[in-house]
Amino acid sequence: MYSQIKVKSNIKDYSVSFVSMTEIEKLVNENYLVIIDSNVANIFPKLLTNNSIVVNTGEELKTWDGLRIIFDELIAKKANVKTKLIVIGGGVLQDAAGFCASVFCRGIEYVLVPTTLLSQIDSCVGGKTSINYSSRKNILGTFYPPNEILICEDFLYGLPYEDFCSGLGELFKFDLLRNRVKNSSINAILSDKKSMTPDIYESLLFKIHFLELDEFDKKERKFLNFGHTFGHALEISSSYNLSHGYAVAIGCLIALKISQYLFKYDESNFETAQGIVKKLLSHTIEVQKEWFDFDILMECVKSDKKNDGNLNMVLIKEDKPVLQRIEDYSIINQVLEEIYEAIRLCN
Ligand code: NAD
Repeated sequence: MYSQIKVKSNIKDYSVSFVSMTEIEKLVNENYLVIIDSNVANIFPKLLTNNSIVVNTGEELKTWDGLRIIFDELIAKKANVKTKLIVIGGGVLQDAAGFCASVFCRGIEYVLVPTTLLSQIDSCVGGKTSINYSSRKNILGTFYPPNEILICEDFLYGLPYEDFCSGLGELFKFDLLRNRVKNSSINAILSDKKSMTPDIYESLLFKIHFLELDEFDKKERKFLNFGHTFGHALEISSSYNLSHGYAVAIGCLIALKISQYLFKYDESNFETAQGIVKKLLSHTIEVQKEWFDFDILMECVKSDKKNDGNLNMVLIKEDKPVLQRIEDYSIINQVLEEIYEAIRLCN
């Protein structure tokens, strides 16, 4: 069994435990107010109580109007400063409900039960909550970690394969940051059903290392943003038709191509990375040319919350991540065209 991971935080320390579905079912009782993704509730009805809040998710939940649904339910259920929430769902519910928990009565306790691969492998740790506003991804948010995170692999068995592969996009990012693209487990995962817990455990440890160095994203944690500069922009340019993990995987490929032009990133590693992204993309919708429009993407990346009106990106130089300001945009234009041509016919 995998041991509990303790995460040190300047806000409050918390833990990640690997548990069974029975343990989660036992925890879900009237002492907690459960907020649960409707798709998860349909598959796991034992997680519902008389007092549950069932929410339809989708990126539209991460908006002012989406939050209103959660706040109205909290008020209707007479939640107060002592209310403890259990949030059961993927990254979207985590971001939205975590945001609500952070501001409701100036902050109430919550336990997080991530149910998608993406949320188990990556988003559950780090304490970021966020919503989108005015075409800007994750622009409003707080740092507000849960008290406890409970991971149960059984949730992944009901997850649609497209959403499972989206989660592999974040695993791909970790492989690239660790210079392990040639040893990536993604090919094995795609060809053979295997337990994901070892990959989840390792990815969390890797991310937590950066969190404990730089919880508030001022320095080292920024490296985890690899692939996200253009990833977030592609989510917006595709009107969220491209799910987060796929957008990040393409964003990683764009960053690698730029690294190749600027820092001679290894050609054969790039080819391997491109092969993995193509395989992932074969499980989602076909990418559209207009999503790669230079002007639209540049407007998105320059107004990304991690940027200051310029284009700063995490690239790979001599096998290590570096933060780089890009001034010559002609490279970007060329790279966008090359990556689109390379991946446009994956399905
Ligand atoms: P998601 O939460 O939208 O879930 C994807 C789909 O799977 C949804 O339709 C959902 O209803 C369904 N689902 C969830 N669990 C299921 C299960 N066990 N069985 C069947 N269906 C299930 O998507 P996601 O990929 O988990 O999260 C993406 C979001 O996470 C993005 O908004 C992204 O910005 C955010 N994110 C946040 C952080 C962070 O640090 N806070 C990090 C990375 C990504």
